[in-house]
Amino acid sequence: MENSSYDRNTGRLLEEARHQRGLSLEAAARQTGIPAHVLEGLEKEDAVRLPAAVYARLFLKNYADSLGLDGREISGRWEPGRQDGPSPKGRPLMVEARGVYKSYRTEELTVHALEDVNLRVEKGSLVAVMGPSGCGKTTLLNTLSGLDEIDHGEIFIGGEPLHAMNDARRTEYRARHMGFVFQTFNLMPVLSAVENVELPLLVGGAGVKAARKRALEVLQQVRLLDRARHRPNQLSGGQQQRVALARALAGDPAIVWADEPTGNLDSDTSNEVLELLLQLNRKNEQTFVVVTHDPAVGALMDRVVRMEDGRIVG
Ligand code: ADP
Ligand code: MG
Repeated sequence: MENSSYDRNTGRLLEEARHQRGLSLEAAARQTGIPAHVLEGLEKEDAVRLPAAVYARLFLKNYADSLGLDGREISGRWEPGRQDGPSPKGRPLMVEARGVYKSYRTEELTVHALEDVNLRVEKGSLVAVMGPSGCGKTTLLNTLSGLDEIDHGEIFIGGEPLHAMNDARRTEYRARHMGFVFQTFNLMPVLSAVENVELPLLVGGAGVKAARKRALEVLQQVRLLDRARHRPNQLSGGQQQRVALARALAGDPAIVWADEPTGNLDSDTSNEVLELLLQLNRKNEQTFVVVTHDPAVGALMDRVVRMEDGRIVG
């Protein structure tokens, strides 16, 4: 939290907007339900008065919204762990899906899991995918990332046509450019944390020394350097998920896909993991697509994609 920051002008903008509306801090606090000292912290950019970054961003968005400012735009300036200005707008596309259909055929019936899905995700953005169980969120992630074949449509990742690649080429592309985080962590139980993280690097052809160096580097990013020699069963759920996150990030992927990454974690641990996701997204300018049930999580993302019955509805 110590060096979290946003553009200094943002605080001034909030304060001016509040004055224009003739609101005292206390009145604004009543209106937003956010304590006055937190609002003041947001205006003065005084980290000491702010809660954990994961909430600070949420508060910033709601406060800006309540003052008639564009909360999404303003909260986008929140840059945990970084001191420079807002990220550039109008970024190039990382994901573009056009008219994607995917069905599962069993002997008795056909399930239309995705129907005419169209989606564009900008490079460096943090997108939440939400919707009721069974609506196709996992299928969306698995098809957009090329883990699963589609029946119809086009998928471009960083401008490359995933749908036109053969299996081998797609697998290679995935290993080189994508990272994955699953609800169940999927760590190898017999390997230590650092070995789990370096495994995909070794598989990808990295040298033993380089892989170890990089693995320790990412473990440090997820604040687990002191647990590098622990096996998964010697780690808490949150720590295991942070190892999984480190493994996903080790190859410096352009995009990270996460399917309910906090689904198996209690709320404190899940906040810790999400805060880390936010920080890494800003710091490394990586694109994150995160399936989640939690509306509070959705509110922290740049954008929420809502699904229902295999379709994107908003
Ligand atoms: P979500 O992740 O939103 O819960 P899924 O993408 O897992 O939803 O599933 C979407 C739909 O496709 C559901 O109706 C599910 O039952 C069906 N489905 C998913 N995987 C398979 C499969 N391998 N075979 C048959 N049906 C499947
Ligand atoms: Mg799912």
